[in-house]
Amino acid sequence: MIPKLNPELALDASIVAFSRALLAAGFNGDIETSYGSRLAVATDNSIYQALPQAVLLPKNTDDIVILTSLAQTSSFSHIKFSPRGGGTGTNGQALTEHVVIDLSRHMRSILEINVEERWVRVQAGVIKDQLNAFLKPYGFFFAPDLSTSNRATIGGMINTDASGQGSLVYGKTSDHVLALKTVLIDGNILKTHKMATFEAEHRAQMPNSIGHIYRQVLASCRDYREQILEKFPRLNRFLTGYDLEHVFNDDLSEFDLSRIITGSEGSLGFVTEAKLNITPIAKFKCLLNVKYDRFESALRNAPFLVAAQATSVETVDSKVLNLARNDIIWHQVKELITEVPDTDMQGLNMVEYNSEDSADIEQKVAALTAKLDLAIANKTDGIIGYQLTYDTAAIASIYAMRKKAVGLLGNTKGSQKPIAFAEDTAVPPENLADFIMEFRALLDSHGLHYGMFGHVDAGVLHVRPALDLCDPEQEKLLRTISDQVVKLTAKYGGLMWGEHGKGYRSEYGPAFFGDELFNELRKIKAAFDPRNRVNPGKICTPYYSVDQLVSVDGQKRAWFDRQIPVNVKQSFDSSLNCNGNGLCFNYEESSPMCPSSKVTKDRRHSPKGRAGLMREWLRLTEQQGFDVLASEQQLTDKKQNFGELWQKVKNSLAKYQGEPDFSHEVMEAMEGCLACKACASQCPVKVDVPSFRSRFLQLYHSRYLRPAKDYIVGNIERTAPVLAKLPKLVNFVLKRDVTAALLKKTVGYVDTPLLSVPTLAQQIGEKYRFDLSRLQQNSSAANAKTVLLVQDPFTSFYEAELVADALRLLEKLGFEPVLLPFLPNGKPQHVKGFLREFSKTAKTAAQFLNQLHQLNLPLLGLDASLVLVYRDEYTKTLGDKRGDFNVQLFHEWLLKQTLPKTSNSTEFALLAHCTEKTALPETEKAWQQIFNKTGLGLKPVSVGCCGMAGTYGHEAQNLYNSKNLFEMSWRSPIEHYGVANTLVTGFSCRSQVKRLIGDKPRHPLQALLQAL
Ligand SMILES: Cc1cc2nc3c(=O)[nH]c(=O)nc-3n(C[C@H](O)[C@H](O)[C@H](O)COP(=O)(O)OP(=O)(O)OC[C@H]3O[C@@H](n4cnc5c(N)ncnc54)[C@H](O)[C@@H]3O)c2cc1C
Ligand code: SF4
Ligand code: SF4
Repeated sequence: MIPKLNPELALDASIVAFSRALLAAGFNGDIETSYGSRLAVATDNSIYQALPQAVLLPKNTDDIVILTSLAQTSSFSHIKFSPRGGGTGTNGQALTEHVVIDLSRHMRSILEINVEERWVRVQAGVIKDQLNAFLKPYGFFFAPDLSTSNRATIGGMINTDASGQGSLVYGKTSDHVLALKTVLIDGNILKTHKMATFEAEHRAQMPNSIGHIYRQVLASCRDYREQILEKFPRLNRFLTGYDLEHVFNDDLSEFDLSRIITGSEGSLGFVTEAKLNITPIAKFKCLLNVKYDRFESALRNAPFLVAAQATSVETVDSKVLNLARNDIIWHQVKELITEVPDTDMQGLNMVEYNSEDSADIEQKVAALTAKLDLAIANKTDGIIGYQLTYDTAAIASIYAMRKKAVGLLGNTKGSQKPIAFAEDTAVPPENLADFIMEFRALLDSHGLHYGMFGHVDAGVLHVRPALDLCDPEQEKLLRTISDQVVKLTAKYGGLMWGEHGKGYRSEYGPAFFGDELFNELRKIKAAFDPRNRVNPGKICTPYYSVDQLVSVDGQKRAWFDRQIPVNVKQSFDSSLNCNGNGLCFNYEESSPMCPSSKVTKDRRHSPKGRAGLMREWLRLTEQQGFDVLASEQQLTDKKQNFGELWQKVKNSLAKYQGEPDFSHEVMEAMEGCLACKACASQCPVKVDVPSFRSRFLQLYHSRYLRPAKDYIVGNIERTAPVLAKLPKLVNFVLKRDVTAALLKKTVGYVDTPLLSVPTLAQQIGEKYRFDLSRLQQNSSAANAKTVLLVQDPFTSFYEAELVADALRLLEKLGFEPVLLPFLPNGKPQHVKGFLREFSKTAKTAAQFLNQLHQLNLPLLGLDASLVLVYRDEYTKTLGDKRGDFNVQLFHEWLLKQTLPKTSNSTEFALLAHCTEKTALPETEKAWQQIFNKTGLGLKPVSVGCCGMAGTYGHEAQNLYNSKNLFEMSWRSPIEHYGVANTLVTGFSCRSQVKRLIGDKPRHPLQALLQAL
C-alpha cells in the first residue's frame, strides 16, 4: 500500500496572508498554492528546477496593479515575483522560489487591429501562432519567428527578444514592438513607445519611479554611448538584456524605452500589453532543400546561399535528420527530402525565398539552381542534390520538422540526454563554419554526443550535448564546457546567448558587457526595481544590492531525479524523459495534443504537468522507503485481503474528512486525462501519460477505495453482453429520468449510452457464424476469401448496425466474413488502472487471437482505440507472450484490396479519431486513397479531440470539459458539411456527435457500402 505523502513544504505565512489580502483587494485572477500547481511551474525547458511559493494568474492589467500595489504594504514588501508566459525558456528565465505571475492562462486577448497603420494590440499572454492565425485573414503576420511558436507568449517573446528563422529579413521581436504597457513593482503603469529625445527628457522630470527610470536610462545610454557601440557586437543577434544600444537612434534624436524592456527577461516589470508592428504575408514563397555529403559542407556553403539573396537559410545535421526519419513528422516531409541514390545525406540547408512578385522568386531560384546543378555535376562543395517546392503546406511541414528538432534530439535512449546550456551561440556568419568545427572538437574531446541545427544565415547554432546530470561528475563537466563555450564564442566575436536569453547564465553577463557597462545595467535595474523584487537573480542585481545572481551551478532538476532509484527511473522513463519543451501546450484547437491541457489551460493537466507530478510522487514515495516496483508486482500477483480492504476504508474516510496527501493531487491530474494517447506519439520524446497513469491509478487504489464508476467502466466488457440479452428492458430503464438522475448522483454517470436494438445477433442471425474446426479443416483455397472480424464491446453492443454493415461490405467485395465470438479486449480495465485484471484479459484474448493467427487469415477490427491496445498495451503487458497476431483496421486492409468503381462521386468530409490518427498518421490518407479508388471523394478535416474519449465524456465531473472540447473543433465542420456528409472513424466521436448535435454520422465503411 502506498504511503501517505506530505511534502514538508508548508507555505510561508505571509504568502497565505497575501493571497487572502489579494482577494479582499479585488484581485480577479486565480490564486494557486497547492503543491501540484507550484510544481507545474517549477520547471521549464532548462536543466533547472525551482519551486515557487504560489502561482498568481491575473485576468488583466488591473489585477497586476492590485497585486503590485498590495505588495508595497509593509507586511508584504519582502515578497518577490517572477512573470511567466508559456514557460518554454531554455535557461530557467521564468523559474523562481518566490511567486510566479503567470499571464498565459487568462491574458490571451487580441485587443485591437489597425490594418491601415499595420499594427495590432494584444495582451501579453497571447500565443504567437494564435496571433498569426488571427492576422492571416487580414493578409498579415507577426514576423519574428521561433520554434515554440505554438505555445510561446508575446510577453515571453518580448522579454527574451525572441527571433528565429528569417531573422535577417524579419528581425527580432524588439524590431516589431511599437509600444508596451508595463506594470512596475510599485504599482505604477509605465507606457513606452518611441518618442523624441526631448520628450523623454521631459518625462525624466517626473517625481516618481517613472521619472527616475527615464533619467537613468537616458544617462546610461547617452553617457556611455561610445563604449556601448564599441562593446555591442555587430551581429543580427545583438546584445540583449538590457539593449543599451538601440534605445537611441543613430543621431540620438529619438528615444525608445521599450528597447530596454525587450530582452529584460522579466527583471524590470510585468508587461501586460503590447502594440506590435505587423508584416504583410508575402504572396509567393518557395523552399529549396539543398542536400550535402557532410554537415561541414552545408555550413561552408551557407554564405553562398545567403549571397544568392535567400530570405532565410536554415540547417540541420544528419543526427537531426535521422531522428526525424523515425518520428511521426517524417510522413509529412519524406517526399520533400528524398534520399540521394548511393550517397549518404549528412547535412541539409533549407533555403527560402519570399516575395510579392513571382517573377522575382523565379529569377532568383533559376540563378541559384543553375549554380547548384553545376556544383552537383562537378561534385564540388559537397552538394549532392536539391529539391524545390512552391507548395505552402509542404514548406510548413519542413519547418515543422525543423521546429521539432530540439524535441527529437531529446528522444535519445539511455541516461545521457541532450540538454540546453550552450544551445544558442551566435557568431558572425562568416565565422560560423570554423566556430562550429572548433565547437565540435571541444565536444568530441569530452566524448559527448550531440546533434546540431540552426539559423546559418544569422550565425546562430543550436546544439544540445547529451549529458546525464544525475551523475555529479557530468554536472561538473557541464560547468567546464559552459565556461569553455563562453571563451570560444568570444574568440569568434560572438555571443553565448544568440536567441534564448540568459536566465541562469546571467553570471556571464559581465564577461560580455564588461564591468563598466554591466554597472549601468545594474543602475537601470535599480531604477525599475530598487529592492530586487522582480525576477530576482536574472540579468543583474540592482546597483548597491548585495544579492547574488543565479548561477549555472543553480539547483538542477537532476538533484531531484537523482533521488529516484535507477530501476524506478527506467521503469517510469516516460515521465522522467519529459524535458519540458512544452510542445504539449500547443494552443491550436484542431490539433490532437493535449485536450485536457487546452480545455483547462491548467499546466497540471498537460502531459508535462502529469509527468512532473509523477516524478515528484516517485521521489517522495522513495523518501518514505516505499518500493514502487515491488508493490506493483504484489498488486498484480495477489488479490487484496480483508485487512487491506479495511485499511482502505479507513484511509478513504480520512480523505473524505480532508486529510492531505500529495497522492490526491496527482490523482486529480490523472483523472483529468482523457487517455487519448495523443501524447504517446505527438510528444517528441513520447511521454506516454496513459501508461504511467494507469499504473498510478492502480497504486493509488491500493490505499484508497475506488469509486463505483470505476467498477462499472472496468467491467463493461463483461456486463454489456449480459445486458444486451434484454436490450429493450435495459434501455427502457436507462431512458427514465429517475434512472438518469440516480446514475448521475450515485455513480457520477451522465447520458449513459443505449444498447443497440435490434441487437447484432438479431440483425445478422447465424449467417457469419464462427466455426474454428471448420476453418482449421478447410484447405487454404477454401479459406482464400475468408476474413475474420474481431468484435469490440462498443460497436457490437451499442452500434450493432455498423458491425452488420462491415460484414455486408466484406461480402459485397466478394469476401466471406466470419464474425468472431466476442472476447473482452481489456481497454476499459487498462484505462481505469485495473492492471491485474487487464493482464488476465490480455492473456486470454492474445491466446485466442494467436490461435486464429495460425490460420493465416486476415483479422479485422472496427474501432481503432481498441485495436491499438492489441498493439501497444498488450506488448507492454505480455512481452514475448503477446505472440504475433495482427488485428488490422479496416482502412489498413482495404487499402490492399481491389475495389469496384462507382459512378457516385460524392465528396465526404472525414473526421478521424485522435488516438488513431496520432498513432497511425497515414490513416486519413489511407481512407482518402480507398475512397478515391472507388471514385468517391474524401476530404480529411483537421480536428482535435471530440471530448468523449471512451467514457470520459460520460463522467459527470467531465461533462463541462467534454462539451467545450467538442465546441473547440468539432461542431463547426460538422455543421458546415452536414452530418450526412461527415464520416467519423471513432465510436466515441460518433456518440459525441449524436449526443451534442442530435444526429449520428456514419463510419467511412458505411458510406462505401452504400455507394458500391
Ligand atoms: C524547443 C525550443 C525551441 C526554442 N526555439 C526558439 C527560437 O527559435 N527562437 C527563440 O527566440 N527562442 C526559442 N526558444 C526559447 C523560448 O521559447 C523563447 O524564449 C520564448 O520567447 C519564451 O516565451 P514564453 O512565453 O515561453 O516565456 P517564458 O519562458 O515563460 O518566459 C521567458 C522570460 O520572459 C519573462 N516573461 C514572460 N512573460 C512576461 C511578461 N508578460 N512580462 C514580463 N516578463 C515576462 C519571464 O520572466 C522569463 O524571463 C525555444 C525553446 C524551446 C523549448
Ligand atoms: S510531455 Fe513531451 S511535449 Fe510536453 S513538455 Fe514534456 S517532452 Fe515536451
Ligand atoms: S492522453 Fe491525451 S489527455 Fe491525457 S495527457 Fe496525453 S494528450 Fe493529454
